[in-house]
Amino acid sequence: MSRRIALGMPKPRATDPTRVDLPDTSDRPDTPALRDRYAREATDLRVSITDFCNLRCTYCMPASGLTFLPKEQTLTAEEIVRMVRIGVELLGIEQVRFTGGEPLTRPDLAEIIAGVAALEPRPDISLTTNAIGLDQRAASLQEAGLDRINVSLDSVVSETFECMSRRPLLHRVLAGIEGAREAGLDPIKINAVLLPGVNDHELPDLLDWCLTRDLQLRVIEQMPLDADHIWDRTKMLTAADMHALLADRFTLRPVDEDRNGAPAELFEVTEIATGAHRGRVGIIASVTRPFCADCRRTRLTAEGSVRTCLFSREETDLRSALRAGADDEQIADMWRAAQWGKKPGHGMDRADFVQPDRPMSAIGG
Ligand code: SAM
Ligand code: SF4
Repeated sequence: MSRRIALGMPKPRATDPTRVDLPDTSDRPDTPALRDRYAREATDLRVSITDFCNLRCTYCMPASGLTFLPKEQTLTAEEIVRMVRIGVELLGIEQVRFTGGEPLTRPDLAEIIAGVAALEPRPDISLTTNAIGLDQRAASLQEAGLDRINVSLDSVVSETFECMSRRPLLHRVLAGIEGAREAGLDPIKINAVLLPGVNDHELPDLLDWCLTRDLQLRVIEQMPLDADHIWDRTKMLTAADMHALLADRFTLRPVDEDRNGAPAELFEVTEIATGAHRGRVGIIASVTRPFCADCRRTRLTAEGSVRTCLFSREETDLRSALRAGADDEQIADMWRAAQWGKKPGHGMDRADFVQPDRPMSAIGG
């Protein structure tokens, strides 16, 4: 039996978890773009293609006990490409990043990328990955249309890597990075989350390791998105701590360029001992220096719901409409309505901040 789809500007359905206010779109200007009430327009789409992962990073997933989405609730490759096409053709999306969970655990990733690379106008296509298995797949992903990658690597010391990811797989990540380089993916950025007393003391060595290999390090403040809810604002390492950790060995000078909505603040790195300019490092201070006022993101979860922010407490289910036969314009209208309700900021610094129920792996970082 087919379900009826509301016409016009339907109200999005809140699926998670507290059913807070649905956006009222009566004051929304008549624009095709993904505009919100704070005059921001989303042009950057993050698509989670799976909530499954082969690592268990402590700041993201629990050691065990997480239930993953059944296959039938996860968008198919065809559905993902259709959603992205709606984003690109009707909503002004210019950049698409695939993430998860671990996107490489989907065997049809190249098919998804190829479908998106065939869109007009062609969006910029990137991938955030833990790189396990990338050595076998980098060439085919690059041929399919992948432009750039970010690899998550918190430590190049085996023991620390295993402690943080709960898996002894550093060698596989390093092989993946080499495979990406051989496939010609450029630039390769490295994402590292710093945890106090675990890998913070390794930061200067990690930066040196990356600069030596022409990899662009992005150090990320830990956010309250871990499944175990152990994040502690008073213990997390801040951007200021990161500067202090690097200060004995490197001088950091801010890069004088427009950030253009990018989350990382970039710095030129000079090695104090030699005076040599070594390259750049990025610091992503989502907690202590939020960049919400210039946020250009919208997110699609693996089950086809729009989240307007990592920290949203509500989602808009597009998959039900899609599978019930909604046309592209109807889906686009639901997406626009959802984006109109985007909050001005993530609210982590507010006393009434509540961590989302979903861990990062189930949202898509
Ligand atoms: N599995 C892939 C990976 O690790 O790159 C893609 C998904 S992962 C959720 C995306 C990014 O989110 C990674 O760079 C990871 O380090 C980051 N991340 C996960 N949990 C985080 C947290 N609690 N705070 C800050 N960054 C986090
Ligand atoms: Fe998996 Fe990425 Fe989360 Fe680590 S950060 S557990 S690799 S999804």
